[in-house]
Amino acid sequence: MAQKFELLTNEPLRPYTSFKVGGPADLLALPKTAEELKALLGYAAQQDIPVTLLGGGTNVLVSDKGIRGLVVITTGLKSGVRITGSTPEKSLVEAKSGERLSAVCRFALDHSLSGLEFAAGIPGTLGGALAMNAGTRAGDMSGIVADLTVLDKKSLTFQTLERKNLEFSYRRLELTSVIVSATLALEPADPAKIEKAFQQHLVLKKATQPVSAASAGCFFKNPAKGMPAGELIEKAGLKGMKMKGAMVSDIHANYIINTGNATCKDILALKKHIQETVFSIYKVNLEPEVRMEGE
Ligand SMILES: Cc1cc2nc3c(=O)[nH]c(=O)nc-3n(C[C@H](O)[C@H](O)[C@H](O)COP(=O)(O)OP(=O)(O)OC[C@H]3O[C@@H](n4cnc5c(N)ncnc54)[C@H](O)[C@@H]3O)c2cc1C
Repeated sequence: MAQKFELLTNEPLRPYTSFKVGGPADLLALPKTAEELKALLGYAAQQDIPVTLLGGGTNVLVSDKGIRGLVVITTGLKSGVRITGSTPEKSLVEAKSGERLSAVCRFALDHSLSGLEFAAGIPGTLGGALAMNAGTRAGDMSGIVADLTVLDKKSLTFQTLERKNLEFSYRRLELTSVIVSATLALEPADPAKIEKAFQQHLVLKKATQPVSAASAGCFFKNPAKGMPAGELIEKAGLKGMKMKGAMVSDIHANYIINTGNATCKDILALKKHIQETVFSIYKVNLEPEVRMEGE
């Protein structure tokens, strides 16, 4: 029987991540449909090879040796954004996981729906944003999700998980399956107010974060109490510090940026130095928000 999917072999992952580092994937697939995704997961189970999932690759650091097994990139899993139900208080907005979060934000703006303003300027896919519970001080994905359709990696069955059964925490969703699509509950509101809030968040982000540098966004999670990670790193005197191609951004100290030719090794060396320095001064353990992938 012909395979229902295409596989790339020994494919460099650098271009698929915003950090622009990382070695090759043994196998890489970019499915366009949920059925293709299911066939890929079935193939990996049959071959007994590990599967690593990537969306926009904007929150990951891929190792220099790359990722063994199969890497599935979801950016082809998209079929537009639509309203699937409305009451005077709420509209349900549905999209596939590979849809860009910015496209979902644009749809909300165009339909005078409030709830996603916090996400202004957050890159990546809808699925990645849900898996990371992406957000800012103004809100996060857990506050607007109504349900998720997921594909279980073992049983290869699709299931719908309602919000009340989803365990979200700070930049985390407890989930072992693959998000295929999501429904968000947004509120009808004055379009001028939504646009204003969206623009304010975007302007603030662009003014205070190195959004056009190669990075994976904020590198460390903010500690539960006390100073945020960026402030700890800045007060520890590390802003602008370089280790080969990796640098602590001089715009926002919680961003490690790739100045052009950084390796994963350089970024990890800088990460370790930041953690040790902050711990020696403040006795705070900084935990990465960026997900490490590969060997
Ligand atoms: C310039 C810049 C600014 C940023 N600003 C913010 C910010 O303000 N707030 C914030 O929270 N983040 C921010 N980020 C980080 C990142 O953009 C978010 O975490 C984003 O939501 C990740 O989406 P992604 O599609 O790129 O996920 P990826 O990086 O591809 O994946 C992240 C994790 O999600 C998992 N995943 C991806 N898709 C799925 C799926 N369909 N099903 C199950 N698991 C999946 C992956 O396995 C991985 O573990 C920023 C990053 C950059 C580069």
